[in-house]
Amino acid sequence: MPLTLTAEGTRLQQEIKLGRVLLVEDEELIRETIALALTEEGYEVLTAEDGRKGLDLACRSGETSYPEGLAFDLIILDLMLPYVNGLDLCRLIRREGNSVPILILSAKGSETDRVVGLEVGADDYLTKPFGMRELVARCRALLRRHRHAQLQAQETALKFHDIVLYPQECRVTVRNEDINLSPKEFRILELFMSHPKRVWSREQLIERIWGPDFMGDSKTVDVHIRWLREKLEADPSRPEYLLTVRGFGYRFG
Ligand code: CA
Repeated sequence: MPLTLTAEGTRLQQEIKLGRVLLVEDEELIRETIALALTEEGYEVLTAEDGRKGLDLACRSGETSYPEGLAFDLIILDLMLPYVNGLDLCRLIRREGNSVPILILSAKGSETDRVVGLEVGADDYLTKPFGMRELVARCRALLRRHRHAQLQAQETALKFHDIVLYPQECRVTVRNEDINLSPKEFRILELFMSHPKRVWSREQLIERIWGPDFMGDSKTVDVHIRWLREKLEADPSRPEYLLTVRGFGYRFG
């Protein structure tokens, strides 16, 4: 039956493309209706009937035996949930540094709820009762926006060996792990990575990073370079990225 095979193949392709959704909703009928609608659209849907289970699945911190690496492309949260409510759940997911798109569902329709929902880091808010087509359309739009943003971040990222700097997110990873940089350290590294191999004198760095009104001395630059080396280099005393060019200044790479 070639037709069935093709349809199944298309469906599998869609599932891979459309992504995995976590749905946290305590009302069984709504939960099942949404899960069915999204599954039919080609999403893989995992459900939780209370906030605790939702948190467990979203943050992979609890006792569930889901394989490591279970990540969601979209999370749908009901506001009123047993144990952990939707707003707290949203807050906790964001606190983990997870930027997955979150859609909040609520029986309440007040402006305040909507604002609070968006303030705790939700991306969109839908008031019950809603139609399944509306829900599916919102999910699709959220996923599209998120993928677009991810793609843009990837395109503008500056890479050098195992260091990646994402200018729009003010984020740096070293060997695939996020590192914490101060705003000055970030700007120095961004300047260096935008001009590989270029030698910068201390005065030029002060001018570019601290501005012409800076009253301190050039030792400030050395201190920041030392801090950066401690965060970037495998062995800060033998730097491989941030190199000293004797008599001139510093260069990257
Ligand atoms: Ca509820």
